[in-house]
Amino acid sequence: MTDAVSLIRAKRDGLRLSDDDIRWLFEAYARHEVADEQMSALLMAIYFRGLDGAELRTWTAAMIDSGHRLDLSSISRPTVDKHSTGGVGDKVSLILAPLVAACGAAVPQLSGRGLGHTGGTLDKLESIPGFRAALTPDETIAVLQSAGCVICAAGSGLAPADRRLYALRDVTGTVESIPLIASSIMSKKIAEGTGALVLDVKVGTGAFMTSHARARELAETMVALGEEHGVRTRALLTRMDVPLGRAVGNAVEVTESVEALQGSGPADLMEVTLALAGQMLALAGLDADPAAAIADGRALAAYRAMVRAQGGDPDAALPRAEHTQILPAPASGWLTGLDALAVGIAAWRLGAGRARKEDQVSAAAGIICLAKPGERVQAGQPLLELRADDPGRFGPALAALDGAVEMSGDGPPPPVSPIIEEVGPAQ
Ligand code: URA
Repeated sequence: MTDAVSLIRAKRDGLRLSDDDIRWLFEAYARHEVADEQMSALLMAIYFRGLDGAELRTWTAAMIDSGHRLDLSSISRPTVDKHSTGGVGDKVSLILAPLVAACGAAVPQLSGRGLGHTGGTLDKLESIPGFRAALTPDETIAVLQSAGCVICAAGSGLAPADRRLYALRDVTGTVESIPLIASSIMSKKIAEGTGALVLDVKVGTGAFMTSHARARELAETMVALGEEHGVRTRALLTRMDVPLGRAVGNAVEVTESVEALQGSGPADLMEVTLALAGQMLALAGLDADPAAAIADGRALAAYRAMVRAQGGDPDAALPRAEHTQILPAPASGWLTGLDALAVGIAAWRLGAGRARKEDQVSAAAGIICLAKPGERVQAGQPLLELRADDPGRFGPALAALDGAVEMSGDGPPPPVSPIIEEVGPAQ
């Protein structure tokens, strides 16, 4: 028999929690016998002291067991999902899910909404008139069977302990902890029932992890957790110092995703998407060429089928902002930097993101990067196009962009691949 105060003290003092301690904690928390302030204190102790491999395994298993699992056994194709740790202009899921479905896999993408400066896949898709992100488990499986992919909200029954823990972490400064992030993400992905998973761990100013070493540690932790739970898991570390692609927002990112599925996506976006697709297909055991599935229209057809199956009209006009404002190039020369965090905050201030979970987002607000690092620009040439429903938002957004643009007169910056490295299971 234990109690919450003993567990908090133990972790505070650097001792480990036993399997029984962790199981007891989650059961008592579900019965509301452990108070939120006690759980918050324990989360802070974990933030400082961490969880070792065995503690993390049991912690994640207890989060999974707090709810039910989606049963994908009726799906005849191999199932494979992707998760991104979140970035600016990261619309990869919208392209990747139908692309990998078009290559023969089934992609069950249970996604989240944006919080802070990083966008959320569901917010983007909900800018399509009629699109429904809240599906029942039966509807989720029906869309997966008919379209080969589904992108919807994780239902309240999947890892419900994470929902409560995440809400506490959000208001107690305990989000940025590798074991807490890894267990939060992986409990939902394991409960979702996917057979394989590819993680896109973003590194850079616009990402959760700004250091390469911490991002690799997070990737290794999540890969190990997935493998321990029978989910074949790989990770790619990808750069998030500059927005991915040219569009940042909701409807604007849907438009850019459709262009990518039509074969005219920006180079950085396509490089990340095709690299992740290659990893997903390899894990699913499928020998298919994703570039060919874009070129011959199969990926676009899968996207249209998914949008229709979720109540959306893929041919409907998307919302357009009433007001635009241009940020011009401050000088002539080479654009060498465009800070992802600043652009993400600016798009959020324009209305594309939310400050609190219950806030509404604007479908039309956002930013178009008319030039990207590596391009030569003339003084006064439009660099960014800001879009908003309310012109009062331009001032705060422009303030966020102060210092975001880096220029050089000395020639183009060396080209860098957005892919940093691949992380697989420890040998
Ligand atoms: N996304 C999650 O789902 N959980 C975290 O802790 C961080 C990002």
